[in-house]
Amino acid sequence: MKIFALFGNPIGQSLSPLMHNAAFSKMGVVAHYVSFCVENLEDAVRGIRGLNIGGVSVTIPFKTAVMEYLDELDDSAIKIGAINTIVNYNGRLTGHNTDWIGLTISLKESLKIEGKTFAILGAGGAARAAVYAVLKEGGTPIVLNRTIERGKKLAGEFGCVFYHIDDIGKIKADCLINTTPVGMIPDTEKSPVSGDILENFRWVMDTIYNPLKTKLLRDAKKAGCSVLSGLDMFIHQGAEQIKMWTGIEPPRELMRQVVLEKLKAS
Ligand code: NAP
Repeated sequence: MKIFALFGNPIGQSLSPLMHNAAFSKMGVVAHYVSFCVENLEDAVRGIRGLNIGGVSVTIPFKTAVMEYLDELDDSAIKIGAINTIVNYNGRLTGHNTDWIGLTISLKESLKIEGKTFAILGAGGAARAAVYAVLKEGGTPIVLNRTIERGKKLAGEFGCVFYHIDDIGKIKADCLINTTPVGMIPDTEKSPVSGDILENFRWVMDTIYNPLKTKLLRDAKKAGCSVLSGLDMFIHQGAEQIKMWTGIEPPRELMRQVVLEKLKAS
């Protein structure tokens, strides 16, 4: 039995164990995925080697802090400045970021990124993955954030423009992507921006997947935009982790079904 794990704090709400265990079971991989609420990150990383854990998903608040304890980082992880995946190659721990891959696959299921402009709300780990993904596919990101220094730093690093989030009304772009947690359960009546500016965008994506229909997406639909929830990004980032850990393509549709059913039941 191979063990895979989630490191986060808190981890109670995570649907990763459900999704990954369903995938392993369908794939016939003899493995189990467990969540750990991490108290001491350095000790937890040492435990990956000590317990021969095959791979780890890393979530809030450790995506950046964990990097210093790993043996190697891939190029995208270095550029994004955050990882969400650890692979244990015989005790050598490598850090990867599959959030940007999940976001890219999810966006490309609905639109062509190349040549389009993307207004990205937020400047944290998910925003960094989004900026990286958009640039890599030939799109143009515009960063909007509440804290000016953090937003300017991100925009400066990737050579794109920055606006304060309150200036969103001045922006017209093909797609708006929310990477802030505003609107996430339990604050489902909150939106990071006012509904009356959404007609300036053709597509609106929320990286939040719980709830599936955030207030932002409900407002966007009313404004006539095409909408994308964070569900498919979540499924694909998780599927890419399994591919890295096992070398086998996981059953993405099944993973989507189990997560969707759980979200609808909650
Ligand atoms: P993070 O590093 O903490 O960054 C959060 C960002 O949101 C910061 O830029 C912060 O602005 C901004 N923000 C927070 N509260 C705000 C508010 N009330 N008003 C305006 N801006 C606010 O978090 P993260 O790792 O990027 O994750 C953010 C979200 O992305 C998560 O909550 C999750 O829903 C989503 N996500 C989804 C997936 C997926 O697979 N679907 C994967 C990763 C993340 P300041 O800089 O001003 O503090």
